[in-house]
Amino acid sequence: MSGRTYDCIIIGAGPGGLQAAIYLARYNRGVLLIDWGGGRTRHAKSIENVLTHRRISGTELIERGLEQARIFNVEIVKGRVTSVKKDGPFTVATAAASYRSLTVVAASGVSDNFPPLENLYRFLGVSYFTCVDCDGYKTTNKKLAVVGDSLGAVNLALAMKRLYTRDVIFFPYRLDLPGSFADILKEEGIPTAASEPTRLIGDSELEALELADGTRVPCEAVMASFGYRLNDEYLAGLPLKKDAEGRKYVVGGACESSVSGLYIVGPLNTGNDQVVIAAGEGATAAIDINKRLLEKAWSSETGEDGAGAPEGADR
Ligand SMILES: Cc1cc2nc3c(=O)[nH]c(=O)nc-3n(C[C@H](O)[C@H](O)[C@H](O)COP(=O)(O)OP(=O)(O)OC[C@H]3O[C@@H](n4cnc5c(N)ncnc54)[C@H](O)[C@@H]3O)c2cc1C
Repeated sequence: MSGRTYDCIIIGAGPGGLQAAIYLARYNRGVLLIDWGGGRTRHAKSIENVLTHRRISGTELIERGLEQARIFNVEIVKGRVTSVKKDGPFTVATAAASYRSLTVVAASGVSDNFPPLENLYRFLGVSYFTCVDCDGYKTTNKKLAVVGDSLGAVNLALAMKRLYTRDVIFFPYRLDLPGSFADILKEEGIPTAASEPTRLIGDSELEALELADGTRVPCEAVMASFGYRLNDEYLAGLPLKKDAEGRKYVVGGACESSVSGLYIVGPLNTGNDQVVIAAGEGATAAIDINKRLLEKAWSSETGEDGAGAPEGADR
Protein backbone atom coordinates (compact mmCIF):
# COMPACT_ATOMS: atom_id res chain seq x y z
CA MET A 1 0.00 0.00 0.00
CA SER A 2 1.39 3.40 -1.01
CA GLY A 3 1.56 5.85 1.94
CA ARG A 4 -0.23 8.58 0.01
CA THR A 5 -3.98 9.22 0.06
CA TYR A 6 -5.07 10.64 -3.30
CA ASP A 7 -7.90 13.11 -3.65
CA CYS A 8 -9.28 10.95 -6.44
CA ILE A 9 -8.48 7.67 -8.13
CA ILE A 10 -9.91 7.34 -11.62
CA ILE A 11 -10.37 3.90 -13.13
CA GLY A 12 -10.15 3.87 -16.93
CA ALA A 13 -8.50 6.25 -19.41
CA GLY A 14 -11.36 6.58 -21.89
CA PRO A 15 -13.03 9.94 -22.59
CA GLY A 16 -14.88 9.86 -19.24
CA GLY A 17 -11.86 9.09 -17.07
CA LEU A 18 -9.50 11.41 -18.93
CA GLN A 19 -11.85 14.36 -18.80
CA ALA A 20 -12.39 13.85 -15.05
CA ALA A 21 -8.63 13.59 -14.53
CA ILE A 22 -7.90 16.82 -16.44
CA TYR A 23 -10.53 18.77 -14.49
CA LEU A 24 -9.39 17.49 -11.10
CA ALA A 25 -5.71 18.01 -11.86
CA ARG A 26 -6.49 21.61 -12.81
CA TYR A 27 -7.82 22.12 -9.27
CA ASN A 28 -4.33 20.97 -8.20
CA ARG A 29 -5.86 17.79 -6.76
CA GLY A 30 -3.79 14.65 -6.31
CA VAL A 31 -5.09 12.37 -9.05
CA LEU A 32 -4.14 8.80 -9.87
CA LEU A 33 -5.46 7.37 -13.16
CA ILE A 34 -5.30 3.57 -13.42
CA ASP A 35 -5.87 2.10 -16.87
CA TRP A 36 -5.61 -1.35 -18.36
CA GLY A 37 -5.26 -0.21 -21.97
CA GLY A 38 -7.33 -1.02 -25.03
CA GLY A 39 -10.91 0.08 -24.45
CA ARG A 40 -13.92 0.74 -26.61
CA THR A 41 -12.89 4.16 -27.87
CA ARG A 42 -9.79 2.70 -29.50
CA HIS A 43 -12.06 0.53 -31.70
CA ALA A 44 -13.52 3.71 -33.19
CA LYS A 45 -11.34 4.29 -36.25
CA SER A 46 -13.11 7.43 -37.39
CA ILE A 47 -15.15 9.54 -34.99
CA GLU A 48 -17.10 12.34 -36.69
CA ASN A 49 -19.45 13.64 -33.99
CA VAL A 50 -17.07 15.28 -31.52
CA LEU A 51 -17.25 19.06 -31.62
CA THR A 52 -14.42 20.71 -33.61
CA HIS A 53 -13.03 17.41 -34.89
CA ARG A 54 -14.20 16.80 -38.44
CA ARG A 55 -12.76 13.31 -38.04
CA ILE A 56 -10.50 11.78 -35.38
CA SER A 57 -9.61 8.20 -34.54
CA GLY A 58 -10.39 6.93 -31.06
CA THR A 59 -6.73 6.08 -30.53
CA GLU A 60 -5.62 9.61 -31.37
CA LEU A 61 -8.29 11.05 -29.10
CA ILE A 62 -7.10 8.89 -26.19
CA GLU A 63 -3.40 9.53 -26.83
CA ARG A 64 -4.01 13.28 -26.95
CA GLY A 65 -6.06 13.03 -23.74
CA LEU A 66 -3.28 11.13 -21.96
CA GLU A 67 -0.74 13.74 -23.06
CA GLN A 68 -2.99 16.56 -21.80
CA ALA A 69 -3.52 14.76 -18.47
CA ARG A 70 0.25 14.36 -18.01
CA ILE A 71 0.80 18.08 -18.63
CA PHE A 72 -1.38 18.78 -15.57
CA ASN A 73 0.50 16.21 -13.45
CA VAL A 74 -2.02 13.39 -13.41
CA GLU A 75 -0.21 10.26 -12.21
CA ILE A 76 -0.93 7.45 -14.64
CA VAL A 77 -0.29 3.76 -13.97
CA LYS A 78 -1.03 0.76 -16.16
CA GLY A 79 -2.96 -1.93 -14.34
CA ARG A 80 -6.30 -3.66 -14.02
CA VAL A 81 -8.25 -2.68 -10.94
CA THR A 82 -9.49 -5.80 -9.19
CA SER A 83 -11.36 -4.34 -6.24
CA VAL A 84 -12.61 -1.12 -4.68
CA LYS A 85 -13.40 -1.14 -0.97
CA LYS A 86 -14.64 1.61 1.28
CA ASP A 87 -13.57 1.87 4.88
CA GLY A 88 -13.61 5.61 5.50
CA PRO A 89 -11.44 6.40 2.43
CA PHE A 90 -11.42 4.05 -0.54
CA THR A 91 -8.86 1.31 -1.13
CA VAL A 92 -8.35 0.55 -4.81
CA ALA A 93 -6.40 -2.60 -5.63
CA THR A 94 -4.67 -3.95 -8.73
CA ALA A 95 -2.73 -7.22 -8.87
CA ALA A 96 0.47 -5.24 -8.20
CA ALA A 97 -0.49 -2.62 -5.59
CA SER A 98 -3.15 -1.00 -3.42
CA TYR A 99 -3.86 2.71 -3.27
CA ARG A 100 -5.95 4.92 -0.98
CA SER A 101 -8.16 7.77 -2.06
CA LEU A 102 -10.85 10.09 -0.72
CA THR A 103 -12.99 9.64 -3.84
CA VAL A 104 -13.17 7.32 -6.85
CA VAL A 105 -14.40 7.76 -10.42
CA ALA A 106 -15.28 4.48 -12.15
CA ALA A 107 -14.87 5.12 -15.90
CA SER A 108 -13.97 1.66 -17.16
CA GLY A 109 -16.65 1.48 -19.86
CA VAL A 110 -18.01 -1.58 -21.61
CA SER A 111 -16.76 -4.24 -24.03
CA ASP A 112 -18.65 -5.22 -27.18
CA ASN A 113 -19.78 -8.81 -27.74
CA PHE A 114 -18.44 -9.91 -31.12
CA PRO A 115 -19.77 -12.95 -33.03
CA PRO A 116 -17.14 -15.29 -34.50
CA LEU A 117 -17.11 -13.71 -37.98
CA GLU A 118 -13.88 -14.09 -39.91
CA ASN A 119 -12.23 -10.72 -40.78
CA LEU A 120 -14.43 -8.84 -38.31
CA TYR A 121 -11.54 -6.86 -36.80
CA ARG A 122 -10.35 -5.79 -40.27
CA PHE A 123 -13.64 -3.98 -40.81
CA LEU A 124 -14.52 -2.99 -37.23
CA GLY A 125 -15.18 0.74 -37.09
CA VAL A 126 -14.72 1.01 -40.88
CA SER A 127 -17.73 -0.84 -42.27
CA TYR A 128 -18.67 -3.18 -39.38
CA PHE A 129 -20.48 -0.98 -36.90
CA THR A 130 -22.01 -1.60 -33.47
CA CYS A 131 -23.61 1.74 -32.65
CA VAL A 132 -26.25 3.68 -34.56
CA ASP A 133 -25.56 6.98 -32.79
CA CYS A 134 -21.86 6.70 -33.67
CA ASP A 135 -21.83 5.27 -37.15
CA GLY A 136 -25.37 5.00 -38.53
CA TYR A 137 -24.71 8.05 -40.70
CA LYS A 138 -21.85 6.25 -42.46
CA THR A 139 -24.34 3.72 -43.85
CA THR A 140 -26.34 6.38 -45.71
CA ASN A 141 -27.44 5.01 -49.10
CA LYS A 142 -25.23 1.93 -48.65
CA LYS A 143 -26.08 -1.70 -49.19
CA LEU A 144 -26.52 -2.61 -45.52
CA ALA A 145 -26.72 -5.88 -43.59
CA VAL A 146 -28.20 -5.76 -40.09
CA VAL A 147 -27.00 -8.76 -38.07
CA GLY A 148 -28.16 -9.55 -34.55
CA ASP A 149 -28.91 -12.23 -32.02
CA SER A 150 -31.94 -10.67 -30.34
CA LEU A 151 -35.36 -9.41 -31.36
CA GLY A 152 -34.09 -5.88 -30.70
CA ALA A 153 -32.10 -6.29 -33.91
CA VAL A 154 -35.39 -6.31 -35.84
CA ASN A 155 -36.16 -2.81 -34.52
CA LEU A 156 -32.62 -1.83 -35.46
CA ALA A 157 -33.20 -3.01 -39.06
CA LEU A 158 -36.45 -1.02 -39.24
CA ALA A 159 -34.75 2.11 -37.85
CA MET A 160 -31.80 1.80 -40.24
CA LYS A 161 -34.17 1.66 -43.17
CA ARG A 162 -36.09 4.69 -41.95
CA LEU A 163 -32.99 6.79 -41.21
CA TYR A 164 -30.25 5.82 -43.61
CA THR A 165 -30.79 3.44 -46.49
CA ARG A 166 -33.54 1.66 -48.38
CA ASP A 167 -31.21 -1.27 -49.13
CA VAL A 168 -31.32 -3.34 -45.94
CA ILE A 169 -31.13 -7.11 -45.47
CA PHE A 170 -31.65 -8.70 -42.05
CA PHE A 171 -29.53 -11.62 -40.78
CA PRO A 172 -30.91 -13.29 -37.64
CA TYR A 173 -27.85 -14.77 -35.91
CA ARG A 174 -28.52 -17.91 -33.83
CA LEU A 175 -32.00 -16.47 -33.39
CA ASP A 176 -35.38 -18.09 -34.09
CA LEU A 177 -37.29 -15.25 -35.67
CA PRO A 178 -40.99 -15.42 -34.66
CA GLY A 179 -43.37 -15.30 -37.63
CA SER A 180 -44.83 -11.96 -36.55
CA PHE A 181 -41.40 -10.33 -36.68
CA ALA A 182 -40.65 -11.88 -40.07
CA ASP A 183 -43.98 -10.47 -41.30
CA ILE A 184 -43.14 -6.95 -40.10
CA LEU A 185 -39.78 -7.06 -41.89
CA LYS A 186 -41.48 -8.29 -45.05
CA GLU A 187 -44.11 -5.55 -44.89
CA GLU A 188 -41.31 -2.97 -44.55
CA GLY A 189 -39.51 -4.39 -47.58
CA ILE A 190 -36.57 -5.83 -45.62
CA PRO A 191 -35.61 -9.34 -46.79
CA THR A 192 -34.51 -11.87 -44.14
CA ALA A 193 -31.46 -14.00 -44.96
CA ALA A 194 -31.95 -17.75 -44.70
CA SER A 195 -28.68 -18.45 -42.90
CA GLU A 196 -26.09 -16.58 -40.87
CA PRO A 197 -22.87 -15.04 -42.16
CA THR A 198 -19.50 -16.61 -41.32
CA ARG A 199 -17.05 -14.24 -43.02
CA LEU A 200 -16.67 -10.64 -44.15
CA ILE A 201 -15.26 -10.37 -47.66
CA GLY A 202 -13.20 -7.48 -49.06
CA ASP A 203 -9.77 -5.86 -48.85
CA SER A 204 -10.03 -2.27 -47.64
CA GLU A 205 -13.73 -1.97 -48.61
CA LEU A 206 -16.38 -4.46 -47.48
CA GLU A 207 -17.85 -6.22 -50.51
CA ALA A 208 -19.98 -9.09 -49.22
CA LEU A 209 -20.97 -11.37 -46.37
CA GLU A 210 -20.18 -15.03 -46.95
CA LEU A 211 -22.54 -17.69 -45.61
CA ALA A 212 -21.62 -21.18 -44.38
CA ASP A 213 -22.47 -22.74 -47.78
CA GLY A 214 -20.10 -20.31 -49.55
CA THR A 215 -22.87 -18.06 -50.93
CA ARG A 216 -21.88 -14.38 -50.95
CA VAL A 217 -24.41 -11.65 -50.23
CA PRO A 218 -23.20 -8.28 -51.58
CA CYS A 219 -22.95 -5.72 -48.81
CA GLU A 220 -21.09 -2.44 -48.15
CA ALA A 221 -21.74 -2.05 -44.42
CA VAL A 222 -22.86 -4.10 -41.42
CA MET A 223 -24.76 -2.76 -38.42
CA ALA A 224 -24.45 -5.41 -35.71
CA SER A 225 -26.47 -5.88 -32.55
CA PHE A 226 -24.87 -8.29 -30.06
CA GLY A 227 -24.87 -6.15 -26.93
CA TYR A 228 -21.97 -5.50 -24.58
CA ARG A 229 -20.55 -6.44 -21.17
CA LEU A 230 -19.85 -3.96 -18.39
CA ASN A 231 -16.21 -3.66 -17.25
CA ASP A 232 -17.30 -3.54 -13.62
CA GLU A 233 -16.06 -6.70 -11.87
CA TYR A 234 -14.09 -4.63 -9.37
CA LEU A 235 -17.28 -3.01 -8.08
CA ALA A 236 -18.74 -6.33 -6.85
CA GLY A 237 -19.25 -6.26 -3.11
CA LEU A 238 -20.13 -2.57 -2.91
CA PRO A 239 -23.80 -1.83 -2.08
CA LEU A 240 -24.48 -0.07 -5.39
CA LYS A 241 -27.96 0.72 -6.65
CA LYS A 242 -28.69 -0.67 -10.11
CA ASP A 243 -31.44 -0.17 -12.69
CA ALA A 244 -34.62 -2.28 -12.88
CA GLU A 245 -32.78 -4.95 -14.90
CA GLY A 246 -30.05 -5.16 -12.23
CA ARG A 247 -27.41 -4.28 -14.81
CA LYS A 248 -26.38 -0.63 -15.05
CA TYR A 249 -25.60 1.69 -12.15
CA VAL A 250 -28.01 4.37 -11.03
CA VAL A 251 -26.29 7.71 -10.38
CA GLY A 252 -27.43 11.19 -9.37
CA GLY A 253 -27.14 14.39 -11.40
CA ALA A 254 -23.41 14.72 -10.64
CA CYS A 255 -22.82 11.02 -11.46
CA GLU A 256 -22.35 10.04 -7.81
CA SER A 257 -23.46 6.47 -7.17
CA SER A 258 -25.37 5.23 -4.13
CA VAL A 259 -21.99 4.81 -2.38
CA SER A 260 -20.95 8.26 -1.18
CA GLY A 261 -17.75 9.48 -2.87
CA LEU A 262 -17.88 6.87 -5.66
CA TYR A 263 -18.78 8.39 -9.02
CA ILE A 264 -19.67 6.31 -12.08
CA VAL A 265 -19.39 7.90 -15.55
CA GLY A 266 -19.82 6.68 -19.11
CA PRO A 267 -21.79 3.63 -20.22
CA LEU A 268 -21.55 1.89 -16.81
CA ASN A 269 -24.35 4.18 -15.70
CA THR A 270 -27.79 4.32 -17.27
CA GLY A 271 -27.00 7.14 -19.74
CA ASN A 272 -26.08 6.88 -23.42
CA ASP A 273 -22.68 5.66 -24.61
CA GLN A 274 -20.96 8.45 -26.51
CA VAL A 275 -17.56 10.11 -26.31
CA VAL A 276 -18.89 13.58 -25.52
CA ILE A 277 -21.40 12.21 -23.00
CA ALA A 278 -18.73 10.23 -21.12
CA ALA A 279 -16.46 13.28 -21.19
CA GLY A 280 -19.27 15.57 -20.00
CA GLU A 281 -20.03 13.19 -17.15
CA GLY A 282 -16.34 13.05 -16.24
CA ALA A 283 -16.27 16.86 -16.01
CA THR A 284 -19.51 16.92 -14.01
CA ALA A 285 -18.21 14.35 -11.54
CA ALA A 286 -14.89 16.18 -11.18
CA ILE A 287 -16.52 19.52 -10.41
CA ASP A 288 -18.68 17.88 -7.76
CA ILE A 289 -15.72 16.05 -6.25
CA ASN A 290 -13.74 19.26 -5.99
CA LYS A 291 -16.64 21.01 -4.22
CA ARG A 292 -17.00 18.10 -1.85
CA LEU A 293 -13.30 18.11 -0.98
CA LEU A 294 -13.38 21.88 -0.41
CA GLU A 295 -16.36 21.49 1.93
CA LYS A 296 -14.67 18.68 3.77
CA ALA A 297 -11.49 20.70 4.26
CA TRP A 298 -13.56 23.70 5.34
CA SER A 299 -15.59 21.79 7.88
CA SER A 300 -12.56 20.07 9.38
CA GLU A 301 -10.79 23.42 9.75
CA THR A 302 -13.77 25.35 11.17
CA GLY A 303 -15.95 22.66 12.69
CA GLU A 304 -18.78 24.03 10.52
CA ASP A 305 -20.78 21.99 8.04
CA GLY A 306 -19.32 23.56 4.91
CA ALA A 307 -22.16 26.04 4.33
CA GLY A 308 -19.73 28.93 4.85
CA ALA A 309 -17.08 27.44 2.59
CA PRO A 310 -15.40 29.71 0.03
CA GLU A 311 -17.06 30.52 -3.29
CA GLY A 312 -17.16 27.53 -5.64
CA ALA A 313 -18.00 25.17 -2.80
CA ASP A 314 -21.76 25.56 -3.15
CA ARG A 315 -23.28 22.16 -3.64
C1 LIG B 1 -16.48 0.72 -33.27
C2 LIG B 1 -16.90 1.85 -32.35
C3 LIG B 1 -17.11 3.11 -32.87
C4 LIG B 1 -17.49 4.15 -32.05
N1 LIG B 1 -17.67 5.38 -32.60
C5 LIG B 1 -18.05 6.41 -31.82
C6 LIG B 1 -18.29 7.69 -32.39
O1 LIG B 1 -18.12 7.88 -33.60
N2 LIG B 1 -18.68 8.67 -31.56
C7 LIG B 1 -18.90 8.48 -30.21
O2 LIG B 1 -19.26 9.42 -29.51
N3 LIG B 1 -18.69 7.27 -29.66
C8 LIG B 1 -18.27 6.24 -30.43
N4 LIG B 1 -18.10 4.99 -29.87
C9 LIG B 1 -18.41 4.80 -28.45
C10 LIG B 1 -17.31 5.34 -27.59
O3 LIG B 1 -16.15 4.60 -27.81
C11 LIG B 1 -17.77 5.27 -26.13
O4 LIG B 1 -18.76 6.22 -25.94
C12 LIG B 1 -16.66 5.58 -25.22
O5 LIG B 1 -15.76 4.53 -25.30
C13 LIG B 1 -17.07 5.71 -23.79
O6 LIG B 1 -15.91 6.03 -23.14
P1 LIG B 1 -15.52 5.53 -21.73
O7 LIG B 1 -15.02 6.72 -21.00
O8 LIG B 1 -16.57 4.72 -21.12
O9 LIG B 1 -14.23 4.63 -21.97
P2 LIG B 1 -13.65 3.49 -22.89
O10 LIG B 1 -13.17 4.05 -24.16
O11 LIG B 1 -14.58 2.33 -22.92
O12 LIG B 1 -12.36 3.16 -22.04
C14 LIG B 1 -12.41 2.52 -20.79
C15 LIG B 1 -10.99 2.29 -20.31
O13 LIG B 1 -11.08 1.64 -19.05
C16 LIG B 1 -10.11 0.62 -19.00
N5 LIG B 1 -10.52 -0.41 -18.05
C17 LIG B 1 -11.55 -1.29 -18.15
N6 LIG B 1 -11.60 -2.07 -17.04
C18 LIG B 1 -10.58 -1.66 -16.25
C19 LIG B 1 -10.11 -2.08 -14.97
N7 LIG B 1 -10.70 -3.06 -14.28
N8 LIG B 1 -9.02 -1.47 -14.45
C20 LIG B 1 -8.38 -0.47 -15.14
N9 LIG B 1 -8.80 -0.02 -16.35
C21 LIG B 1 -9.90 -0.61 -16.90
C22 LIG B 1 -10.02 0.09 -20.42
O14 LIG B 1 -8.78 -0.55 -20.58
C23 LIG B 1 -10.16 1.39 -21.22
O15 LIG B 1 -8.90 1.98 -21.46
C24 LIG B 1 -17.71 3.93 -30.66
C25 LIG B 1 -17.52 2.64 -30.13
C26 LIG B 1 -17.11 1.61 -30.97
C27 LIG B 1 -16.91 0.24 -30.38
